Amino acid sequence: MSDCIKPIIMFDMDGTLLDLAFDDLIWNHQLPERHAATHQCSLEQSHHTLHEFYQQHKHTLLWYSSKYWTAKVGVDVLQLQADFQHKIAPRQGCFELLKQLKAQGYRCWLVTNADRAGLQLKLENVDLSPYFEVMVSSEDIGYAKEFVEFWQILQQQHPFDSQHAMLIDDTTPVLQGAEKFGIQQLVTIRQPSSLKAARHVLELEYPSINDLTELLPLLTQDQLKDVDVKTA
Ligand SMILES: [Mg+2]
Repeated sequence: MSDCIKPIIMFDMDGTLLDLAFDDLIWNHQLPERHAATHQCSLEQSHHTLHEFYQQHKHTLLWYSSKYWTAKVGVDVLQLQADFQHKIAPRQGCFELLKQLKAQGYRCWLVTNADRAGLQLKLENVDLSPYFEVMVSSEDIGYAKEFVEFWQILQQQHPFDSQHAMLIDDTTPVLQGAEKFGIQQLVTIRQPSSLKAARHVLELEYPSINDLTELLPLLTQDQLKDVDVKTA
């Protein structure tokens, strides 16, 4: 890629630039506890109820809406996130990578399924904004990133050439949505949450990195697509 146009590098936020451990803490531990206390039921019942909601809405826009969850489960989930905001943290290599990309003149965009309020809270705690020329929440687009429509509308609002765009995202269905749209340079993250085990490269459909600075050598390869996923 050294001789051609530099791609616009699009980054997911949670699980890619930021440690997904925070979201695990909120959605899988604190929300069930607060839900149980609010509705005076057992923690087990709360886990069960929330699990059903999660299954129903996973990968939809509603799944990512704090307002929806607040109304649906009777717990103010934005307040809950604010109560634990000191736990919001960048993943390894995050700022090192962003500084390098800025120094090398790459254009970086933040594309997240977090709703606007969630994005705002994360940015107040980890100041990513100086590194991004565009920051988009799927709430602004009206579709989650898993859908081709997200990318079509993003492109209408912020013109870009899909041949010269790269997406780094920890969620396979999101990468599949972007691929369907026509983005070919796709990279995933082996360990989105520092509190969970890393995924093995053999389980992953896309080239992967762990420390974010591992992206830098990939940028100088001519065709990321040709990297053999199984041996990379
Ligand atoms: Mg993510």
